[in-house]
Amino acid sequence: MANCAAPFVFPFQTENQHYLFDVNTRRILRVDKIMHDLVQEFGTLSPEAIFARHDGEYSLSQIESAIVAVNEFQAKGLLLPNRVQEIATVDAQDVVEELTSKRQQLILEVTTACNFRCTYCVYDSHDGTFRGHGREEMPWSVARAAIDDFMAYNSRSEMCAISFYGGEPLLNMPLIHRCVEYVGDAYPQSKPSFSLTTNGFLLTDEAIDLLVSNHFNVSISIDGPEAVHDACRRTKDGQKTWQVVTENLRRFVQISKERNGDCYVIVNAVGGLEADLGQVIDYFSRTDYLPEEFSLIFASDRAYASAIKPGCRLYDSAREASMNLDEQLIRGDVETDNCAFRVASSVLCKELVKFHKRHLLISSEGISRIVHSACIPGGRRLMVTVDGKYLPCERVERLESTTIGSCKEGVAYEKVQELMQNWLSFEGCKTCWCVTTCNVGCFATVAVDASSDRPPKQDACDNHRRQRHSLLVRYCRILEKNPGALDYARGIQIT
Ligand code: SF4
Ligand code: SF4
Repeated sequence: MANCAAPFVFPFQTENQHYLFDVNTRRILRVDKIMHDLVQEFGTLSPEAIFARHDGEYSLSQIESAIVAVNEFQAKGLLLPNRVQEIATVDAQDVVEELTSKRQQLILEVTTACNFRCTYCVYDSHDGTFRGHGREEMPWSVARAAIDDFMAYNSRSEMCAISFYGGEPLLNMPLIHRCVEYVGDAYPQSKPSFSLTTNGFLLTDEAIDLLVSNHFNVSISIDGPEAVHDACRRTKDGQKTWQVVTENLRRFVQISKERNGDCYVIVNAVGGLEADLGQVIDYFSRTDYLPEEFSLIFASDRAYASAIKPGCRLYDSAREASMNLDEQLIRGDVETDNCAFRVASSVLCKELVKFHKRHLLISSEGISRIVHSACIPGGRRLMVTVDGKYLPCERVERLESTTIGSCKEGVAYEKVQELMQNWLSFEGCKTCWCVTTCNVGCFATVAVDASSDRPPKQDACDNHRRQRHSLLVRYCRILEKNPGALDYARGIQIT
């Protein structure tokens, strides 16, 4: 199959048109039905064999004309049969270089304890791959060793970031305080940016003072309006939390403003299965306790991924909200600088805009070799558990196979290299139509259990292909009706 002579394309259709996604160039070509239906047989079967196979659905002369059309496309460098021959991951030298001088972000799990028991929390682990809620606190010796190790290998990085994570990190304020002070004293030139992921319940005056004084970026979890939030986010003993959290955030933003602080707020809304996404978006676009500049990340938790399907409120409401937004884009009557649109589009149009802004590839160069764009574990992010083990990031399961060192021994380079080889150079990619637009590179999105008998990335890949297919249909459906519908995205930066 890697040497297949048929054009390397993915055929798809909207209600009105047929298309081919040309994998080699990332272009979308509008074609007729016969081309859509038969293109993957051209080059592999004779016209007569195709004719016989389709039981007379198309005449021989129609099939021959379609083959001529394919040849014409190919003369222009489109619809080529090139398949990927090699999926390359970064080599050992790149790994060592990044890990010895360009580490970007250190994430310290300062506690395993949490004062909340959210219904979707990964730490109420169902399959034992994530730890459960605990009571351990990271000892100072671990935090210090991890900071020293990180600082020693960050010298050539453009980014130097230290993040505090939990459980609920504000349950271990003394350690956060100590780390911030230590970094200031021991590494005065480094000026790292600090960040914290919190449920917001313990944003006391003392905590706010620490965060504002040190210009923290704060990622806070609020699921939306009171009822939606309180349905999932309760304290350990079952209390509702929305009132306290939103009031705390209001105070945080106000104090930060009064002190001319430059704290940045990211709202992390996690979708419970019963959440109505339209309502959530509407709520955030009208809310008054957030700063003017904030990001909204809507993340439905991986543990729920298989339950998000038609019939589930989250799924149905996301579909409806997305269709409403598409209709607005098609009519071209949206005010794109209006807050409601910005919030809705940041949640519902991110992938659409990313795809719209993709770089087209030059086909004559082919795609014989793809370098996987996945991050180097430990380079972009390095998560340190309370007991000092190193993991690729906070969203990766804690398994023997995912541990890439410790604060005592440092990062094990050969382990990182092995992870990349095993999980990323996946033979299936060579013939996968998503190969030139794929973002299944994040270790957190792949099944990493080496003892599992299914292929390592199977679920993530199947999901990804389904989502890409829907995205292509949505994209073409919008542009068929209004070719300028996504022009607003020109100035948008995608991260
Ligand atoms: S606040 Fe975070 S760590 Fe705590 S229960 Fe909720 S999701 Fe889990
Ligand atoms: S979806 Fe999976 S098989 Fe396809 S290119 Fe991405 S990682 Fe490879």
